[in-house]
Amino acid sequence: MFAALSLPAAGQDLIARQAPVDKKMRAIDSVAIQRLFEQENLEDPASDLYPNWEESFINAYGNVELPQELKIDLRHFCMPTSNRIVTSQYGYRRRFRRQHKGLDIDANKGDTIRSAFDGKVRVVTFQRGGYGNVVVIRHTNGLETVYGHLSKHLTKVGSVVKAGDPIGLAGNTGRSYGAHLHFETRLLGEYIDPSKLFDFAHQDVTGDFYVFRGRGRGTLIGKHDPSAPKVEGTDLAETSSAETADEEISYESSEVAKNNQRAQRAARNTRIHKVKKGETLSSIAKKHRTTVAALCRANGISTRTKLRIGQILKYS
Ligand SMILES: [Zn+2]
Repeated sequence: MFAALSLPAAGQDLIARQAPVDKKMRAIDSVAIQRLFEQENLEDPASDLYPNWEESFINAYGNVELPQELKIDLRHFCMPTSNRIVTSQYGYRRRFRRQHKGLDIDANKGDTIRSAFDGKVRVVTFQRGGYGNVVVIRHTNGLETVYGHLSKHLTKVGSVVKAGDPIGLAGNTGRSYGAHLHFETRLLGEYIDPSKLFDFAHQDVTGDFYVFRGRGRGTLIGKHDPSAPKVEGTDLAETSSAETADEEISYESSEVAKNNQRAQRAARNTRIHKVKKGETLSSIAKKHRTTVAALCRANGISTRTKLRIGQILKYS
């Protein structure tokens, strides 16, 4: 009986040699799983964070609750332009008596505009009185970025992009006077000053991570000292912003405001359901007193679509 349990010396040796191989296999496995996870995150970026995937509205989240704290990975970024000159900073503009919710970077018409991070293109549209040709990308790190006044789109809704992929050409479309890129960074529709994340003058990020802690608050973690003196370009931006006849702030134009109101109304009326194990379209429909057809319509799926656990479905 004991003989059956104890292995001959050669067998033990084999097991000893096998152990590192197993470890290696596990490592390969975890790399494969990691890749799979990354691919899934690219196909459906930051899906744990966002309640919906809306392709018609830039502001699509209404009064959604913001996370208490979120660590945003800024590594593997790419600057959206090769230009380093910020012509107008984020914040209140006295001249126009309103907030500038993005940052303007000098550009020549036709300059290539690139995705700042990996992600998926959520909106590609034209707004005459506002952003002009605009692209919105949802990133795997939870941020959304907005690229306005493009002369041309080079991407489509639903395209998966890597940081640095061309998504458009710089221009002067919409409510803009002079070619430039209007660039916004948002989290669940909440604006974050892009200069807190990017150091345009040095074509770098300000840290490896940015920890979002509610409206207007956050901390940087990583290689750069956030208390370091401001870089050149800031002064230039402040002094030249008055001269920059850029008055886009599109979401305040009536057309866009209407869109936003509609989106917010839609977001208020839309509720979400997270698919649990064993649920089907009909059980979910029954639970929320709606129909399978309405669920399919609201989520752009068919009755044959296979639901996955954790998938977010909209219903109203
Ligand atoms: Zn702007």
